[in-house]
Amino acid sequence: MHEHKEQGSVLDGRENSDGLWRCPKCWGELDVISNESIKCQLCHENYPAVEGIPDLRMGKGDALWEEHDLQLAQRYSAEVQKESLETVMKQLSDRPENTQETQVMRVKQILGAPSKFLRQFDGWLKPCVSGDGLLLDIGCGSGGFLVATESIGLGAVGIDASMTNLIAAKRMIEVHGGTARLACAYAESLPIKSGRISAVTMNDSIEHVTSVRTTIAEAYRVLKIEGHLAISTPNRFSLTREPHVLIWGVGWLPRRFQARYVRWRIAQAYDHTRLMSTWELSREFKTQDGFSFEFIVPLVPTEEIENFPPLRAALAKLYNRICQWRVLRPIFLFIGPFYQISARRIA
Ligand SMILES: [Zn+2]
Repeated sequence: MHEHKEQGSVLDGRENSDGLWRCPKCWGELDVISNESIKCQLCHENYPAVEGIPDLRMGKGDALWEEHDLQLAQRYSAEVQKESLETVMKQLSDRPENTQETQVMRVKQILGAPSKFLRQFDGWLKPCVSGDGLLLDIGCGSGGFLVATESIGLGAVGIDASMTNLIAAKRMIEVHGGTARLACAYAESLPIKSGRISAVTMNDSIEHVTSVRTTIAEAYRVLKIEGHLAISTPNRFSLTREPHVLIWGVGWLPRRFQARYVRWRIAQAYDHTRLMSTWELSREFKTQDGFSFEFIVPLVPTEEIENFPPLRAALAKLYNRICQWRVLRPIFLFIGPFYQISARRIA
């Protein structure tokens, strides 16, 4: 038992003492065989694992990409074994499409994420962190949110579609003195028992799922009654740059032209990103009975404005001032840079 804990296995500890994680194939309970292998007690399916993090994706997405990501994660895990957190994140952001400048910005964002979330705990995320139940972060990326919850003593688990991200998340959590409780899985098929989670968070991740409708249904399934769901996402019709590829106007094009436009402008793929308008996300939400929800127009955080160039800083301050005017709310829900949804499972 103790040995598993030191290895940081996700299946160890209180979270799985009552079988939180489930076999995606037969819903059986999972057993840790080693840091590289997890086995289902019921159907005996073997799942690969990296550093104890099980890969429960099961070819539900692009099987070729999954295989590639798993291999990359194994290599990455070995390479960053003894590196500093900054180097770990630098390597994670070292992608052909990232310029030097973008890479530096991403690393800064990743390392600053825990304190960013801590500030949000006093704001729109307050309902999610007020109880003492278990939290689930869907699309936990490099773990900033999980570090923040851990630092205030809340239990939380994270899933991400990329094992490589999860290796980075595990480092991030452990460097901050926590224990990683992670699994590689898709938002559309959570390997988690129903009705066990007090709050589900999705920070800039719903725009990357394949099915928004199924994702919302899955979040609903794992939540307890009175549980909270908090989603933040960039706005499709924002007047600012598309935050993933950093060019203007992508969202205003019909969907079928977006990828072609991005390729033409900057020769990059735009495959797994689908920004939604508030109207589009609201329509998806209405297909799931049992949620009450409201949209929030968030302010640009003061700490972020401090890093902006002068003109952008001035515009952001102006935005923060006028987006609090009630009559302008519908406009900012339509064209603001990003928005949030705060939902509660009522039935
Ligand atoms: Zn099974």
